[in-house]
Amino acid sequence: MRHQLFIDGRWQDPVEPGRIPVFDPYRGTVYHEVSAGGPADVDKAVAAAKAAFPAWRDAGGRGRARYLAAIAARLTERAEELARLSSRNNGKPLGEARIDMADVAASFAYYAEQAIALQERQDADVALPDDGFHARLRQEPAGVASLIVPWNFPLVTTSWKVAPALAAGCTVVLKPSEITPVVELELGAIAEDVGLPAGVLNIITGTGERVGAPMTTHPDVAKISFTGSNAVGARVMAAGAPGVKSVSLELGGKSPIVVFANADFDEAVDCVLGGIFFNAGQMCSATSRLLVERSIAPKLIDAIIAGSRALNPGDPLDEGTTIGPITMKAQHDKVLSYIERGKAEGLTLLAGGGKPAAAGDGWFVEPTIFGDVPTTSALWREEIFGPVLCIRTFESEEEAIALANDCDFGLVATVVSGDDVQANRVANAIEAGHVWINSPQAIFVQTSWGGFKASGIGRELGPWGMSSYLEVKHVTSRLKR
Ligand code: NAD
Repeated sequence: MRHQLFIDGRWQDPVEPGRIPVFDPYRGTVYHEVSAGGPADVDKAVAAAKAAFPAWRDAGGRGRARYLAAIAARLTERAEELARLSSRNNGKPLGEARIDMADVAASFAYYAEQAIALQERQDADVALPDDGFHARLRQEPAGVASLIVPWNFPLVTTSWKVAPALAAGCTVVLKPSEITPVVELELGAIAEDVGLPAGVLNIITGTGERVGAPMTTHPDVAKISFTGSNAVGARVMAAGAPGVKSVSLELGGKSPIVVFANADFDEAVDCVLGGIFFNAGQMCSATSRLLVERSIAPKLIDAIIAGSRALNPGDPLDEGTTIGPITMKAQHDKVLSYIERGKAEGLTLLAGGGKPAAAGDGWFVEPTIFGDVPTTSALWREEIFGPVLCIRTFESEEEAIALANDCDFGLVATVVSGDDVQANRVANAIEAGHVWINSPQAIFVQTSWGGFKASGIGRELGPWGMSSYLEVKHVTSRLKR
């Protein structure tokens, strides 16, 4: 396991010596240390990225695509090993980590194609109403991009930024979460393996204060893309403001899942369970508010309770484990504090509410379900980021839509219905950046990702993901005759 910083194509120790511990959440113990970078390392990395930028930009989309495709191939070759590294550091079941790694490789493969497509339309003629003029639209990379990511899906959130940024022609300084740096550092090793030019991708581990903050204020950084909490996202936006930097934000959620009585029952149960207990609920896209049509509520709730009890907590690296611990102690304590608050508010605890009996010494929380949760409760309104589901019933489609939209966030939603017309009508009415119909959160790199309202600014994935790293230029010529 690596511990150094990856700057200018070389593994290096930080300028100011320092290490940060890496935890195994299943055992609650430290098993590794990585370098604690600081502002001087950010300066070095930004300088390397700035120096590498002109040649990377001028390599053209086709030139860059070769590297992206090679990275995708290497990620695929190393997928099982990377899944194991991620599973241990995150505590996510190995099967879930394997899904993550497939997604990571797919992102690089997709943006290799997008880089070629960009070259093909780098300069596009613009139709003008005056034939004495010619105009072309040209798209150019923004420059050095600071990319800052959280701990819940390491390498996934990273690939959703690094791949489009490199495809667009930006050079990158990446800051992984200090909680889950192990698998992220392997991206530096893969960059080395495929011969990515020095300085095109730099990776600095360390804390938000000492690495993330200087990455957002550095005068040579043109673009900031941040995924994480709303509190830090607001600070990032403010930090970028004096330099008028382009800022993209992927923030939190408190997303609804709406189940109608006409839904396929088993499909509804799968969608509800997958939407809140995958990755132990540590998902920005967790559908943590279940809205169920009253006539089927008792039957559905019974099935969900049974499904939650059937989850198998254990060592994330055991193939039979279906729910792991919470990735970090502070988050574990925060989830438990919400559960205690729910009990203190007198909410109806239907399942869970503590630590699973069979689990190890790690930071486990039982899959927990509260029923009849008032819309005024903190558990209904705030992002908990753990395996805690809150339920309400509704009687009409209008009521379901109103309840779904009564929320500060707008990241995703799921609609489960046996009527496609109804499902699409409700999907259109919900204020969210991505709505799934009858699907437990299928994600395709071709579709966009990002939120309405407090869930963020901008979109990742698809062509939109690359656009956010591109500047638009028009060149208008008066024609000489
Ligand atoms: P966080 O905001 O605490 O940290 C995110 C990253 O920001 C980390 O790398 C951290 O070190 C860094 N950071 C901290 N302070 C900083 C500062 N002052 N300047 C710059 N960087 C700083 O979030 P987290 O706890 O790691 O992740 C959980 C949050 O991420 C949840 O709210 C979740 O909803 C959100 N999230 C959103 C998406 C999405 O796509 N919308 C995806 C995953 C996670």
